[in-house]
Amino acid sequence: MATVLKITLNSETATQQFAQKLAQNIKPPMVIYLQGDLGVGKTTFARSFIQFFGFDKVKSPTYSLVESYQNDAINIHHFDCYRLSDPEELEYIGIRDYTNTPAIQLIEWAELGTGMIAPADLTIALSGDSETRELMLTAQNDIGNTLLQCV
Ligand code: ADP
Ligand code: MG
Repeated sequence: MATVLKITLNSETATQQFAQKLAQNIKPPMVIYLQGDLGVGKTTFARSFIQFFGFDKVKSPTYSLVESYQNDAINIHHFDCYRLSDPEELEYIGIRDYTNTPAIQLIEWAELGTGMIAPADLTIALSGDSETRELMLTAQNDIGNTLLQCV
């Protein structure tokens, strides 16, 4: 059975802190889908998560489709499938090379890459407006479950 965790974050800072807490407890490989409407905070969440590992500049992959971050400690791929018109386009950017090695994958708009994108271990659905965000974290398997026990 999927484990679900619901939390309310009252400010952008709270979202950033929560993303970093998740980053602190993560063990690769791990696939995380970030879900929710445009402007809800998917990239904001991913940016703080990635910055936890010492990468200062994290730009949205909206145009590039994927941005990768690699150092001695970690290997992260941040995807945004919003601009995909066909999941097959992921084949052209060599998605297999991205997913062959154990890494953390953070994926925005994963539903637009169905069939090519790895299945999620954890989904994070964001909603809300103004400064407040509701996050619903759902573990899709034991890997996701183990992570959720830590936060
Ligand atoms: P998405 O990637 O989902 O399209 P972005 O992360 O690019 O969204 O944008 C989220 C916007 O919402 C940013 O302008 C951010 O400053 C704002 N924001 C306000 N409150 C929050 C919050 N609690 N958590 C995340 N973002 C917030
Ligand atoms: Mg985004």
